[in-house]
Amino acid sequence: MSSNSTTSESEKLLDALIQIVGQAHVLTGDQVNQRATHFWDSSPLIAKALVRPANTQQTSDVLKLCHEASQVVVTHGGLTGLVDGNHTTDADIVLSLERQTAIESVDEKGHTMVVQAGAILQKIQEAAAKTNLQFGLDLGARGSCTIGGNISTNAGGLSVLRYGMTREQVLGLEVVLADGTVLSSMNQMMKNNAGYDLKHLFIGSEGTLGVITRAVLRLRAATPHVDTAMLAFSSFEQVTDLLNDISASLNSSLDAFEVIWQPFYQLNTNPKIEGTSTAPLPASYPLYAIVETRSNQADSATDQFQQALENAMNNGLIQDAVIAQSEKERTNIWHIREHIDIALSHNPVFVYDISLPIADMGHYVETTISTLEKQWPGVIVYVYGHLADGNLHVLVAPPCESPVDEETRCNWQNISNDIVYIPLQDLGGSISAEHGIGLTKKAYLHYSRTPAEVELMKTLKQTLDPAGILNPGKII
Ligand SMILES: Cc1cc2nc3c(=O)[nH]c(=O)nc-3n(C[C@H](O)[C@H](O)[C@H](O)COP(=O)(O)OP(=O)(O)OC[C@H]3O[C@@H](n4cnc5c(N)ncnc54)[C@H](O)[C@@H]3O)c2cc1C
Repeated sequence: MSSNSTTSESEKLLDALIQIVGQAHVLTGDQVNQRATHFWDSSPLIAKALVRPANTQQTSDVLKLCHEASQVVVTHGGLTGLVDGNHTTDADIVLSLERQTAIESVDEKGHTMVVQAGAILQKIQEAAAKTNLQFGLDLGARGSCTIGGNISTNAGGLSVLRYGMTREQVLGLEVVLADGTVLSSMNQMMKNNAGYDLKHLFIGSEGTLGVITRAVLRLRAATPHVDTAMLAFSSFEQVTDLLNDISASLNSSLDAFEVIWQPFYQLNTNPKIEGTSTAPLPASYPLYAIVETRSNQADSATDQFQQALENAMNNGLIQDAVIAQSEKERTNIWHIREHIDIALSHNPVFVYDISLPIADMGHYVETTISTLEKQWPGVIVYVYGHLADGNLHVLVAPPCESPVDEETRCNWQNISNDIVYIPLQDLGGSISAEHGIGLTKKAYLHYSRTPAEVELMKTLKQTLDPAGILNPGKII
């Protein structure tokens, strides 16, 4: 095919897209390039066009057209995904959900909410709070990420311990398949065993099996009263003993249990660095944890929280502790855990999101750091994460005085990946706890999934997207 005929086919496709969504909603050239690639990367977005359908019908028409033209489509939500799942080339069409943001209804009796997939997580949280209910998903990117992105990545976050991953917050879905078929599976029921529960195919599928357009979300009773403490420990064993202890004493009110190894605490409380937190505890302990409970009874809950920590302290399970006395103090504590911009300013820095049995974590972190130090004396390794969910985030920053070239960076990344990922296989851990696979972890999928599992993933992809137009090359 000559380049002229390719150009004219491309123009025909853009004209047809304009017929569906209107001229103002097919962006090309500078209109695309003026947008950023990612939440953390301001380099220009590259794509043949960015299309903004207003509703499910338009999304279906766009996909039908792209399917017939074998046109690759990459769905974009809030662009906060961390595994390059939303990567595009100049041959791709971006399908953006930015006009499908409505919170359609809240059922206060049934504790459900119907939303369009482009709704921002924080807006969903706020809408639930207005009806004295709450949504059980929360994460640092809440102000930018969309529920469609959360569902497509099966996001985890800060309340998994209590409410589970995104999968547990979704009752029903509406998905547009690659050929434009609208699959309405908008179940509102907690119990519905009528055959295969198809929504689970799409949750965590990173835009490779369908485009999520609407969802029925499960809401919970509001727990507006929050108690938060920062704790310090002398050993990892002490951390896990405390987790067992307070899991029993605080029972279902325990909402978050986040662990932070010393280097990350020291970085984010360093008074010489702008934007850090005031240290609530001395930076001399090897380990810290943020513990948070939520309930709807202010006084009794605070008493129970304080009593549980006091008992733990008396039993030698905590070295030091501070309880937040105000929202300002609580925010200061959480900023230590959530503020990763300073750590990310190392160049290069390799970022991991892994899971493994809690009992193996202490030893795993020790041996991994020791292997990294043998490889790169002076390497900085930040470790923190959702301990109670078996999920750690590891940031590896090899020392270098000046920026390294791309080839060296890639070589170092591969070495670091092997050091972090290979031991997880024997421990039954995962190379991706909550961020997904995207492009970044694709080469390592087999570390966490068997050949039979990967084959079935390929079969599902082939069945649902035979032309391979939906986010091809991601995951598998
Ligand atoms: C500061 C910060 C903190 C974070 N904390 C956490 C955390 O604690 N836990 C966690 O799990 N993640 C976390 N993340 C990662 C990220 O926020 C989640 O992956 C989020 O769910 C992505 O949502 P998004 O709308 O930004 O999706 P995008 O980044 O736009 O897309 C992510 C993937 O989903 C696909 N996709 C998006 N929308 C749709 C749709 N409607 N239909 C089909 N496919 C779609 C895309 O093609 C892509 O593959 C964090 C990110 C940041 C920047």
